[in-house]
Amino acid sequence: MVKKASKAISGEIHPGLITWLDMPAVGHEFGASTLVFLDFDGVLHPLHDRHTQPFRDLPRFEAVMRRVPAASVVITSSQREDRTLGELRALFAADIAPRIVGVTPVLPIANAEDLPGSRYREILAFLEAHPRAEEGAWVAVDDDAILYPTGLANLLLCGDDGFGPREASRLARMLAGL
Ligand SMILES: [Mg+2]
Repeated sequence: MVKKASKAISGEIHPGLITWLDMPAVGHEFGASTLVFLDFDGVLHPLHDRHTQPFRDLPRFEAVMRRVPAASVVITSSQREDRTLGELRALFAADIAPRIVGVTPVLPIANAEDLPGSRYREILAFLEAHPRAEEGAWVAVDDDAILYPTGLANLLLCGDDGFGPREASRLARMLAGL
């Protein structure tokens, strides 16, 4: 009977979400939620405007998040190394702030060879540390392709102008498809 129910659901929901739905509820804060791994510089403002127009594109990002209430945000920006989770949340609008659920771990970079794919490895480490999310759906929003494997489908890569209308509609589409 349970099997039948799962089958009925699987036609409508992304397989990644099925994994979460099928797992026993343990009240984990990262469960049953799509995760958006978020960079700041080059995403929430163009890199060259980071001092003059900090977080210029944050309202546009938040507007997308409001359309996807089930999605939570995990910060990947290097600013997580200097700020507490509370300080990071305070950068966001009051209704979005509680949806910032954590930060990725900082893995050491010993030399230049460690840099390619490093942020992706930090995301995997986060997912490993939060097993209910491990098999779940996620998207990374970043402006630096070198920090991820080539052709990673989970990556929304921002151009030189931060999180513009094009990025907003792409993220909305990606989250709707998960
Ligand atoms: Mg960046």
